[in-house]
Amino acid sequence: MSNKPKIVVLGAGYAGLKTTRELTKMLAPEEADIVLVNKHNYHYETTWLHEVAAGTINPNQARFMISDVINPNRVRLIYDAVVEVDKEDQRVILENGEITYDYLVIALGFESNTFGIKGMEENAFAIVDIDSSRLIREQIELQFAKYRADEDLNDSALTILVGGAGFTGIEFIGELAEKVPQLCKKYDIDRRKVRIINVEAMPSILPMFDKDLVAYAMKSLEDRGVEFRLGATINECTEDSFIIGEDNEEIKAGTIVWTGGVTGSSVLDKSGFELTRGKVTVDGDLRAPGHENIFVLGDCAWVMDEETNKPYPPTAQAAMQHADTCAYNIRALLYGEPLQKFEFNDRGTVASLGVTDGIGNVFSGTQLKGKSAAAMKKVVDNRSIFLLGGTKILLKKGKIRPF
Ligand code: FAD
Ligand code: NAD
Repeated sequence: MSNKPKIVVLGAGYAGLKTTRELTKMLAPEEADIVLVNKHNYHYETTWLHEVAAGTINPNQARFMISDVINPNRVRLIYDAVVEVDKEDQRVILENGEITYDYLVIALGFESNTFGIKGMEENAFAIVDIDSSRLIREQIELQFAKYRADEDLNDSALTILVGGAGFTGIEFIGELAEKVPQLCKKYDIDRRKVRIINVEAMPSILPMFDKDLVAYAMKSLEDRGVEFRLGATINECTEDSFIIGEDNEEIKAGTIVWTGGVTGSSVLDKSGFELTRGKVTVDGDLRAPGHENIFVLGDCAWVMDEETNKPYPPTAQAAMQHADTCAYNIRALLYGEPLQKFEFNDRGTVASLGVTDGIGNVFSGTQLKGKSAAAMKKVVDNRSIFLLGGTKILLKKGKIRPF
């Protein structure tokens, strides 16, 4: 048996895959064994899932094989689902086995949070991974096909109802606004029969953006046939409707998608970590409090911004920066050197509104809208795939075709 330290990374998303890549650069095989555990044998770009869900990109474009970017001779790859972390015995329970660790990196991402809204979990789709996103694309197209085949079907079968106007909801309806006209053409359906309705409890969509940008985004989407119901709380989700607002108005639909919030992986709770809104409030060096050998990254981590005293938003941008700090700190622990404190370098935020439109704040305060924002979003998407997969994957999967 090897007496080298064993580093186990859970999750091959932005945080886990980048941590693994950095560790392989920083540590020679003689210095440590590295194990990467992920549910699937592929990594997917979570930030592209709204496009998979709307059907504007193929699911395969949003994923690549982990073994194409991580050398299996250097890193042991285990494709299995993590069930629980046993911190006492330093082992991870998997669906089909278990594995011990000396150092653990938990980067299992997010799960949809329905806040206990009646019927939401059972009846609504959610954009969480490749499988759940592909299901939405199939459901929408099935409704179009059924509508053509069944004369008795009500027009509401063609309605797509989206709950929540945060980033995910808005980016998804931006893609739908592109896809629906194509589906109408394919199935000979009048575009006016298809409704895309977004329901949001707050008085505004995307409140983190300046009012002018929000107004631009709303107009752009409304011009393409999106209807907004703002200031309307969803009280319940039935098999084919949302019940909203104080009057409990019912809106019927053939496809219902919940984009109303996310929380950290449920593995954290199962493993007995102390949680803030489903995430571990990590120390400045990204370790779980009281656990010197456990790092928690990405959407599993609640990372406080000391300047504003608020948590940083959970983003891919932050997850990849967590990875760099974590890899550095694991090496520092191995050699008894001082650990680095995580410092977030905010490169800005862009929300797409379809293939050629978007809004954004970049480079400390420059506002973008329209094609320049959409182009910036593609730069961000390509940068992320390059950081995770290098030039080969960028050329294969990147958004490098002109639009
Ligand atoms: P993830 O990237 O979600 O990776 C988690 C990994 O763990 C996955 O590979 C998953 O399969 C695996 N996993 C999960 N559970 C288990 C288990 N039990 N066992 C084994 N493996 C498991 N952020 C931005 O910065 N910019 C954007 O433009 C942007 N757009 C987004 C668009 C959408 C539609 C969504 C949903 C999110 C977007 N985000 C964006 C947020 C961003 O995607 C997340 O913050 C980011 O994915 C978090 O990275 P992560 O590594 O923590 O988790
Ligand atoms: P979110 O929490 O940001 O937005 C959810 C929205 O749903 C909120 O506006 C909320 O008011 C609304 N909502 C909640 N309950 C409701 C109810 N009962 N009725 C009606 N509306 C309700 O969630 P998200 O959009 O999934 O984003 C999650 C995180 O992912 C964000 O923090 C963001 O940083 C990140 N993200 C970033 C990008 C990007 O940078 N382009 C894209 C997608 C996601």
